[in-house]
Amino acid sequence: MASQGVTPRSEDYSRWYTDVVQKADLADYAPVRGCMIIKPYGYELWENIKGALDKRFKETGHKNAYFPLLIPMSFIQREAEHVEGFAPELAVVTIGGGKELEEPLVVRPTSETVIGHAFAQWIHSYRDLPLLINQWANVVRWELRTRLFLRTMEFLWQEGHTAHATAEEAQQETLQMLEVYADFAMNEAAIPAIMGRKSDQEKFAGAEASYAIEAMMGNTWALQSGTSHNLGQNFAKAFGIQFQDENNEQQYCWTTSWGVSTRMVGAVIMAHGDDQGLRLPPRLAPIQVVAVPIYKTDEQREVVMDTILRVCEPLLSVGIRVHIDDREEVTPGFKYNDWEMRGVPLRLEIGPKDIEKGSVALARRDIPGKEGKQFVPQDGLVGTVTRLLNDIQKNMLKQATEFRDAHLHEAKDYDKLKKVVEDGWALIWHCGTAECEDKIKEDTKASSRCFPLDKNPEWHPQGEKCAVCGKPAQGKAYFARAY
Ligand SMILES: [Zn+2]
Repeated sequence: MASQGVTPRSEDYSRWYTDVVQKADLADYAPVRGCMIIKPYGYELWENIKGALDKRFKETGHKNAYFPLLIPMSFIQREAEHVEGFAPELAVVTIGGGKELEEPLVVRPTSETVIGHAFAQWIHSYRDLPLLINQWANVVRWELRTRLFLRTMEFLWQEGHTAHATAEEAQQETLQMLEVYADFAMNEAAIPAIMGRKSDQEKFAGAEASYAIEAMMGNTWALQSGTSHNLGQNFAKAFGIQFQDENNEQQYCWTTSWGVSTRMVGAVIMAHGDDQGLRLPPRLAPIQVVAVPIYKTDEQREVVMDTILRVCEPLLSVGIRVHIDDREEVTPGFKYNDWEMRGVPLRLEIGPKDIEKGSVALARRDIPGKEGKQFVPQDGLVGTVTRLLNDIQKNMLKQATEFRDAHLHEAKDYDKLKKVVEDGWALIWHCGTAECEDKIKEDTKASSRCFPLDKNPEWHPQGEKCAVCGKPAQGKAYFARAY
């Protein structure tokens, strides 16, 4: 049915994205411009992202807590760079209970300030450190140009906030959480994200250093998909987060913050989606296997449904997320297209012939057509399906990695950079200055993504010059068009 399809990516990638979000039933626009309604299927995907991250946070010693939505305006103003960075995006409450407030309240754009305030009360001695906290929350940033999941005025996220006794520990934590994000992206989302340090211009308002995982989308644009900041002592000094060290001397803490948001849903859509719609990695898919009964007569229907229930029961009992599509008003062909659109990794079909043979048909979403389809015995189906889901997960990472690597290119000079960023990411020796980044952006629309954290010694400059301006290079950096 034509109404099921999406605009082909090659025709209009941006339109394709919006089509997929809506036709796969992930989200919808809200009455307030820039806000988003996350529908159940999109929210289940977010819950799986959340679960996989939360597990990793707990394994690395963090505890969840919750801090207030409303923050006194004076808090935001305490850290100079922070207020400068966030002022244009703030939503401010000035009236409460029908009365003008003495002090305006900010709807949190992020929580460094209010958490810094709490940390100052909680931390007294070196024995209270490190303090490792995470919160799952919503935040509001007054964005003017919004896209569902990618950039919305209100979004869901987690923000980790930690305090440490030394600069080294804070830096270690910052990099550890960046690695946690990269590990999540690779092993759960099947996205081979690149870890790197942001340039000075791109770093978080109030941070000493910011790091990010950058993921390549299906049109080769970059998407910053998670960030980790070393805040130095900036917020500790602004909020008086101090501790008594082992020599009974008062010291300021070193703090970090790190976050991943509902933007990750956008990353999954764009890293894997194709012209049939969404493709979800099995580990995050709300539905891992969809079972479609095939029959012509009522008599057949009864037998087929009985068999489907019997065959799916062991799958469900080992925790495989199975959905049986027993809708009677639509054809099997319609159902195939529908579940392909929604990105379900594996489709199981059973018809009268399969029942005779004691088999089922399994069709993979990651390999289209006949090549991705096989007939397998009903016996031992749990093992077969588990193996296939693992294969699909691995294959999706392989596909995304091959695509990424085919679109990463070194650029020795500015002309090469200009050419590369039309359809990929350019790696250049970069001076790290805002002037140079602004020029590149104006000429090519590509922005500085990160200085990749690579152990390769060749990437540390030994007198190399910026490929664009000729000043001494800080390191090798990626430039790309980005969301
Ligand atoms: Zn330069």
